[in-house]
Amino acid sequence: MLVALGELLKDAEKNRYAVGSFNTPNLETLRAVVMAAEETNTPVTLNHAMAHNHVIPVEEIAPLMLKYAKESKVPMSVHIDHGKTPEFVHKAIRLGFTSIMYDCSELSFEENAKRVKEFVDLVHPLGITVEAELGNMLLSAGDGGAPGKKKEDYYTDPDAAARFCELTGVDCLAITFGTEHGIGDKPQILDIERLKAIKEKVGDRAALVMHGGSGTPAEEIKKAVIGGIRKINYFSAIDVAATAAVVKEIEAGAGKPVHYCELALIATEMLKKKCVEAINMFNSARTS
Ligand SMILES: [Zn+2]
Repeated sequence: MLVALGELLKDAEKNRYAVGSFNTPNLETLRAVVMAAEETNTPVTLNHAMAHNHVIPVEEIAPLMLKYAKESKVPMSVHIDHGKTPEFVHKAIRLGFTSIMYDCSELSFEENAKRVKEFVDLVHPLGITVEAELGNMLLSAGDGGAPGKKKEDYYTDPDAAARFCELTGVDCLAITFGTEHGIGDKPQILDIERLKAIKEKVGDRAALVMHGGSGTPAEEIKKAVIGGIRKINYFSAIDVAATAAVVKEIEAGAGKPVHYCELALIATEMLKKKCVEAINMFNSARTS
């Protein structure tokens, strides 16, 4: 069933786990995530990232995402990941998305807060859940950011996070404390003390979100959930595992013709398997 993300986050907070938040830029990923959620009887969010609009435009994938979410046996939110322009997020509202990340994290604190507050005021009456980001996660693994800056220089400040939530009324906040988008060449070690400090300061004003979990060891993810993370965006690890399964199948064909539709099924099966593993990992700290 289709729900707003806010409902899922309330349950996650009550039962101390993190909602899995998975990108679904094609039918294979969409079917795989829905099957994984139903198999584990766990709510998830289906995401369309603005950055994936070249894979499939939001207008084309949204009706499918909504259909699968509505027909699902478990609650699901249909969510925009890293919506960066007013045009894109407004279009998503019209298409029926139940939660939207409005990412103004590359702007100053003041401008980020101003734009997010305006957006929250606009969409809360429609029952839409809003996510924002504070601190700047580097765009991809291994990206060192501006010259002379370390990764840690971009981490979220606990006091600023609390002030941001107070000013904006945002429902959930993506924070930066060690993860990176994509899969880097070394495992990501998280600044759990910083996470705990952010959780302490933000309190129940907003749920905390972690992006870029793919290169993070399971033990670190578990610590993050225990430390208060209530939604985890997770995609790259699942996506590249599907590629590896497809490559293996092609190689096994030893040069014979391989049907693409069969490859899509093999990819779907691997996507589902990895998605189930991720959901179990996010659930592993659940207390009830
Ligand atoms: Zn992200």
